[in-house]
Amino acid sequence: MEKITDKYHRLVEPGDKRPDQYFDIKQVPKRTFQVGLTALFTGIGISVYDVSIGMYVSSFLVACFCFSILMFMLLKYNGDIKDLSISIISMVCALLIFAACLEGLQSEQYLYFFPLLIAVPLLVDLKQTQYRKSFLFVSIIIFSFIGCIIIGRYVKPMEDFTVQQVTRLAFVNRITAICTTIVFASLYTFFEKKYIDELMEQNNKIIDAKTQFLATMGHELRTPLNGIIGVVNLMKDETNAVKQTEYLQIIQSCSDHMLQQVNDVLDFNKIEAGKFDFHPAAFNLRDLLLNISRPFVVLAGENDVEIVVELSTEIDAVVQADDLRLTQIFNNLLSNALKFTNTGFIKLAAVCTKKNEQSITVSFSVEDSGIGIEKADQERIFDSFWQVHNDETKLVSGTGLGLTICKRILNLMGSRLTLVSEKGFGSKFSFDLAFNYAEKLVPATKNASLRGDLKGVKVLLVEDNKINMMVAKKILTGFKAAVTGAYDGSEALNNMENDHGFHIVLMDLDMPVMNGYTAIFEMKKHHPEIPVIALTASLVDEQMLADLVASGFKDCLVKPYQPLELLTCLRKYL
Ligand code: ADP
Repeated sequence: MEKITDKYHRLVEPGDKRPDQYFDIKQVPKRTFQVGLTALFTGIGISVYDVSIGMYVSSFLVACFCFSILMFMLLKYNGDIKDLSISIISMVCALLIFAACLEGLQSEQYLYFFPLLIAVPLLVDLKQTQYRKSFLFVSIIIFSFIGCIIIGRYVKPMEDFTVQQVTRLAFVNRITAICTTIVFASLYTFFEKKYIDELMEQNNKIIDAKTQFLATMGHELRTPLNGIIGVVNLMKDETNAVKQTEYLQIIQSCSDHMLQQVNDVLDFNKIEAGKFDFHPAAFNLRDLLLNISRPFVVLAGENDVEIVVELSTEIDAVVQADDLRLTQIFNNLLSNALKFTNTGFIKLAAVCTKKNEQSITVSFSVEDSGIGIEKADQERIFDSFWQVHNDETKLVSGTGLGLTICKRILNLMGSRLTLVSEKGFGSKFSFDLAFNYAEKLVPATKNASLRGDLKGVKVLLVEDNKINMMVAKKILTGFKAAVTGAYDGSEALNNMENDHGFHIVLMDLDMPVMNGYTAIFEMKKHHPEIPVIALTASLVDEQMLADLVASGFKDCLVKPYQPLELLTCLRKYL
């Protein structure tokens, strides 16, 4: 058995955001610094020129302006001011107004308002449609320009110049203003083009991702579906009960696999939408890890792979966390390890790294001696729908979502998934988590509610899909319930009018004629005492559940559900 040693030092930082998640296409802060630098260098040039032609007061004024611009840029660099663009625009406007007081209109410094106006689009992030900001900047510039003209026309200049000085200065200002206008206009065109190109590229990436998603999901769902269809055809002609049971197991395994893929997509969707919920519970950490590893021990036994579970004694403790999400992470990492390891070992380790009276910090790892991952692929495997494509992986199925989900769940839990791997030698995925000790282990109530059946219970089942209706009816009558079916909300209301003896209603939400939401409204008016459970195949988050409860539903059962889940749910509200 070859062990992976610490020589594999590649460490990926999967917690990092993808660059496109916060990429500012126009790079407005950078642009603002560039405009600031242009103003600074232009100011320095004019200040030096003023000295050379003997205009010392003007030179001093422009030098003060340069110093202020420099200060603002340093403050922005240190993070002491939030918005550099408004400071730069205000400074330039103030300088030009002062210059008008000092020199009047004769030196034509008001021409600098034009490049300043052209620079506005470079200083606002159009991606965030900052109309207010653009309007503010343009207003400041126009009012300052008007102010400048009024002062220049009606106020006597503070400094006296010779005709030669004025002619020279006006000439330099004219040339500089024209040049900066041309530069800003060209930059504006260049950046707009770049901006549009980047947008197009992002758009194409989204289209590619969608196409890839549909192709991958299509493949991943068609594969087990093909198994189900094939086995169903075989079963039609099979009379041997043992063979039939075998076929049924294949159907079950294929449908479980399909459900897993669909759940992965739903989880991913929830995480992307920021609607991922955690449900902490008290559980024994050691027992949880042992239970998780058990099915893998059986599966690995079929190959030439040994499963090693290394748990430090401190983790034999009752902690508070979301055990289902933790199980999901380990199942993903272990099933990947099993998929990509043909011989050798898979090691699940949990080592206590810190402990005090209230909490325990545990370092988890799932290590394998499998095919390993090339350096170039190590960062990308955490991207959604991304898989390594080579001869060794082409026979292995998957959606490329497992690691993305693990990484995101761990990020939400305040941890980071790290990878150490070398091609041909295996991989090691690790993360640390801190747990608070739980007061006491609350025994699971699930099993208690599973006892007994639904004898004597009258259920109104409202479901528009005939197959779903048939399956639910079979399950319920299997539990000895008396079931009345209705194909939409209005039929259900008629049933309730004619028969007042229903104990509980199971109702789909999306139905023709009258949907579940309208139906519950009417039902609550006339029969508020009868509990109604919503049935849905939608993505149910906490908000949706709260909305359903507010509409009058007692609870919600998400399709597809297992028979025991249905029984547990009904017994809870009877
Ligand atoms: P999938 O559903 O395709 O397994 P994952 O996100 O879980 O999606 O994994 C993405 C890719 O990372 C896999 O397709 C595989 O190429 C690579 N990978 C993941 N775990 C391992 C591992 N333990 N050994 C080698 N390659 C792995």
